[in-house]
Amino acid sequence: MAENVFASVEQASAAGGLKSEGLTSWVRAAEKVVVLSGAGMSAESGVPTFRDAHTGFWQHYDVEQLATADAWWANPRLVYSWYLWRARMVRSVSPNAGHQALARWARKIQLFISTQNVDDLHERAGSEQVSHLHGSLYAFRCDDCAAPATLPDSVFESVAPTGSDEDLVMVDPPSCADCARGTVRPDIVFFGEFLGSS
Ligand SMILES: [Zn+2]
Repeated sequence: MAENVFASVEQASAAGGLKSEGLTSWVRAAEKVVVLSGAGMSAESGVPTFRDAHTGFWQHYDVEQLATADAWWANPRLVYSWYLWRARMVRSVSPNAGHQALARWARKIQLFISTQNVDDLHERAGSEQVSHLHGSLYAFRCDDCAAPATLPDSVFESVAPTGSDEDLVMVDPPSCADCARGTVRPDIVFFGEFLGSS
């Protein structure tokens, strides 16, 4: 698959670079495509950046207290609530034309999306082959045995019943149902952690 794509890029480059005409014909001919998406994709939808979300109650904490492995072990309730809050904010925005175009394209060819984004906008647009390099705001796992945990949708509401951070409710992360030793954590790559092999 990768050879196919890289060969096409080389052909397009040899034919005059990846200018719009070359790119258009290359895209039309492609049968297998891997799309890498990043923050710009989500920004078009108005997904709050770290800075945008880092307001109100949260501005009393810095990134080391909210989004690192050390923060998790020091205060799982705070970190868990922070990620639920961000997940809740993302639920208030919608996929944009870019997400929808990729979902439509995937119905015609083999298309895989590899994204740095932790939101679920590709999935909500209808894309099924999505790999989240940095994890997902809607995925959770045990911090001990790593078993995946499924949480009810209502958990995202529980952190802010009215959607305002003035009504923020700190939420304790549940214990792992598999091993009963660990605690359920966001399946997100915290700052200072390495990307998983999967
Ligand atoms: Zn466990």
